[in-house]
Amino acid sequence: MADDCIFCKIARGEIFCAELYNTDTVLAFLDIAPVHKGHALVLPKAHHETIFDIPPDLWRDIMTAQQIVGKAILQVTGAPGMNVMTNCYKVAGQLVPHAHWHLIPRHEGDGLELWPQGAYGDNEEMNRLAEAVRLAME
Ligand code: 5GP
Ligand code: ZN
Repeated sequence: MADDCIFCKIARGEIFCAELYNTDTVLAFLDIAPVHKGHALVLPKAHHETIFDIPPDLWRDIMTAQQIVGKAILQVTGAPGMNVMTNCYKVAGQLVPHAHWHLIPRHEGDGLELWPQGAYGDNEEMNRLAEAVRLAME
């Protein structure tokens, strides 16, 4: 737990949240500024900055929470779709440095655009980048 972290404070019960799901390890609640109503956040109670920092023994609990909470939001909102996403680090839009996933219900014609897509010069460029990433995993 981090003293000055807003999500740690919520996990400790020091700040209000509209709680959806609460276990020993995972918490989910409604986002205070929803993209669409029903927009929820799922997070480990323990403080980890990004999803890259979460230890493997928490993954099952987190994924279980995402499935249970996500399906319930789809049912209650009547949304036919959902974006499940996470931002890692400030430049990618992470405002709260305590790892979390957004569950955002989506509706037909709701006007939300995801990111624009680009292109590689050729397959060789893709292959060079893929090889560099593979090497970084060794
Ligand atoms: P991020 O930009 O870090 O991926 O997302 C942080 C999210 O946390 C934002 O969507 C923001 O609306 C939400 N948020 C920030 N502070 C609070 C809070 O005190 N309560 C709740 N329920 N949501 C919060
Ligand atoms: Zn925290």
